[in-house]
Amino acid sequence: MTHPNSDDLLQWYDINAREMPWRTPPAEKQAGVKPDPYRVWMSEIMLQQTTVATVRDYFIKFTKRWPTVDDLAAAEDADVMAYWAGLGYYARARNLLKCARAVSQLGAFPQTYDELIKLPGIGPYTAAAVSSIAFDEPSPVMDGNVERVMARLFDIHTPLPAAKPELYAKTAELTPRARAGDYAQAVMDLGATICTPKNPACGICPWWTPCLARQNGTAAELPKKTPKKPKPTRHGIAYVVHSDTGALLLETRPEKGLLGGMLGWPTSDWCDEPSAAPPLDVKWTKVNAQTLHTFTHFNLRLDVMVATVEGVPMVSGRHWVEKHAFQPSALPTVMRKVWDIARKA
Ligand code: SF4
Repeated sequence: MTHPNSDDLLQWYDINAREMPWRTPPAEKQAGVKPDPYRVWMSEIMLQQTTVATVRDYFIKFTKRWPTVDDLAAAEDADVMAYWAGLGYYARARNLLKCARAVSQLGAFPQTYDELIKLPGIGPYTAAAVSSIAFDEPSPVMDGNVERVMARLFDIHTPLPAAKPELYAKTAELTPRARAGDYAQAVMDLGATICTPKNPACGICPWWTPCLARQNGTAAELPKKTPKKPKPTRHGIAYVVHSDTGALLLETRPEKGLLGGMLGWPTSDWCDEPSAAPPLDVKWTKVNAQTLHTFTHFNLRLDVMVATVEGVPMVSGRHWVEKHAFQPSALPTVMRKVWDIARKA
């Protein structure tokens, strides 16, 4: 049996590497250009649970506004949260800032897995990816694409997530000591462009010869996955109140919890049967449409209530935003959906 070889994949990568705004192409690396750890780190944080296509524009916007880790460290929290709006998983944005401030204090990004993992918001995957891609440390890097490639290459039928340790061991075994960063990106590119979930293009794969799933005709059924439980649905009420001066009543959500630190409309709790908790004692009108949104662990259905008040009365924990200063793009997606319904009411 021929064993898969990292050199075969690296040769393929040298010609086929995808272009990414955060990536140092293999030819440039070989000419001595060093990847910028700030850009590598930011891309890895943004790419968690998010597609490359979505991340591109956010990455460009962020690095234009804050070109270095010191610039980001000095940013206002609200500014960063507003730039992150729409990208989801908002704890990442809060940790991005915490981590930037920690790195700025250190003076530079640490270069090893063991040091990187001590930073806020950097877990085992991100520490491995940054140490490998930015500093060429041979840390095994395993994301969903890599899991799929390893399961097929070695014809592993144990379902995910139970298969993870076995797949990680294979990932580690294949990671070379030289060009570890290029290799990590090469496996990801292979998974994204050739060894795709449906219809893998085995005929043009650099690992065609050694791949066991290709030999056994099992590629299409791998990786196996333990079926997920259906998501529960929670309910809630969102309140959109206009002042007759044109201002809107918003709140900054508590730091801890879902959408933490993000701007949004006042809402009730999100549960099976929410009790009404309007922010003002006025006449509310229920809009004849619901906001539907999917979070990682549940679906949310929000009723939308609208009201108009005179002036801008003080409301504890909430603040008025003048219409000219209101930017729907600074809201997280679920709150933007609420606005889309409320503004047509
Ligand atoms: S030969 Fe096919 S199944 Fe195997 S790694 Fe390549 S694309 Fe994936």
